[in-house]
This record gives sequence, C-alpha cells and structure tokens, in this order.
Amino acid sequence: MIEALNNILIYISSIFLSVNVLTIEANNTDYEDSIPTKIVSDIEVEEIQESLVPVKNQTYTNTTDWWKYPSNIKAVTRDGNDLLVLVNKEYKLPSTFVPSGLVKVTDAVIRNGDKYYLRSILINDLRNLVTAATADGIDLCVISAYRSYATQTSTYNYWVQYNGGDTDAADRISARPGHSQHQLGTAIDFSSKEVSDSIGTRFNQTKASAWLQSNAYKYGFVISFPYGYERITGFSYESWHYRYIGVENAQEMKNKGQILEIYLEGKNP
Ligand SMILES: [Zn+2]
Repeated sequence: MIEALNNILIYISSIFLSVNVLTIEANNTDYEDSIPTKIVSDIEVEEIQESLVPVKNQTYTNTTDWWKYPSNIKAVTRDGNDLLVLVNKEYKLPSTFVPSGLVKVTDAVIRNGDKYYLRSILINDLRNLVTAATADGIDLCVISAYRSYATQTSTYNYWVQYNGGDTDAADRISARPGHSQHQLGTAIDFSSKEVSDSIGTRFNQTKASAWLQSNAYKYGFVISFPYGYERITGFSYESWHYRYIGVENAQEMKNKGQILEIYLEGKNP
C-alpha cells in the first residue's frame, strides 16, 4: 500500500518536474522530457493549471487576476444530457448524473479510443473530424474522455490532501465533483504522435492543436478553455480539451465570435 502510494507520488512529482522544465524551455523545441501518460486516465489532468502547479503545502493567496471560487453554488439549469448545459465552478451537475448513450469509442473512430467512453450522439462527428484531420496529415488520439462523479470526487480529494488541506490551492488545479465537463460524456482531451500522446502544454505547439483550433468547430467540437480567457473560464489555457456542442451550435458560437463559456451563459440564463 505504502509502496503504491510512493509510486503515485513519484509519478506526480515527475509531472511537476516535466512541467517546470517545459515552462522554462517554452521557446525550445527540444522536448526530451515527456510527461508520463500513465496517470492521465486517473486524474483530471486537463484541469491542472500547469503554470501554477502548487508546491506541496505551499500557502496560496488568491490573486485579483484569477477567477475567484464562487460561494453560491447552483444546480445546472439544463439537463445534463442537453448539449448546451453550462457546467463550471458555479453550476454543478447532480452527483447521480450519468450521461445517456455512453459508448466505448473504438479505434475505428480515433486512435486509443477503445480505452474511453463518450456519448453516442457525437461519435459520427468525431469520426468525421478525425478523417478530415488524417487527410490533412494530422495525427490525433484521445487521452481522456468521460469521467464519473466518483472519479472526480477522489481526484479532487487527492489534490486537497496533496496541498495539506488547502482547498484554494486544489481549486486551481482540479474541478470539484459535479463541476467537470468530463462528467457530461461530451468532453475529450486530444493528443498526437507529435508529442508522443502526452498531455500538457507541449500540445500547444503541435500541428494537431493548430488544426483543431481552425477546424474542430465544423464537426461540433469547440475549445473549452481558450488562451487569454482564464479569468472568464476559471481555468488556464487547455489546447487539448474540447467539448462537443453539435455542429449547428458550434457554427453559431463561431459566428457570434464568442468563447464557449460566454456562449453557454447566454443559453443558460
Ligand atoms: Zn479535459
């Protein structure tokens, strides 16, 4: 048991070390250090604020340029199966919510898909997205998809414990249970052979990331936490995290020039 915990800590430490190295070498194309992918399916990696990963037990003070955690938590105003439901740090899904139509994503849809579940409603559009990307010489794989409320509970508790009970620090790197888009079964974390299927800021520099930024909306997928909007979304830029809202909605959002958070606020008055 203790050995298992030690192994987990070694993995986590490795990630933090890699992140630090990557931050320092942000303008360097030499990415020798790879972020371990083993824990990707176990934690809410997309909600790790990689530039702000806290040192263990470090005291955190809220900064004015960050999205302060809301004190008044509300229930989501649309059903969890509604593609336009707003889920964020303020609006929470029920603990009992499990999305309908969860299916195993096969490798015929996207590489590594057979390890993950998503809602069947988006499978055809995801297949079309990957087919188009492949035709453009872009490699994509999935490294995270549906995650349950229970998974998120243990994940968040882990980060609180890791930070010596400091929930402010945990909130910067992990969503509380019920507040993760991954519980919807419509959020997906992409990666690519370009970065050895790893997750993290290395993906920002890939052709795959650029391709998704330009084309994903055509297939109903939009980036959830875009660059420069951290104060609005409450999460740092995550080039790899996309959410499916349907082709027509994604087109409407693009036409309005809105980010997902603002678009959904308008749909969830
Ligand atoms: Zn994600």
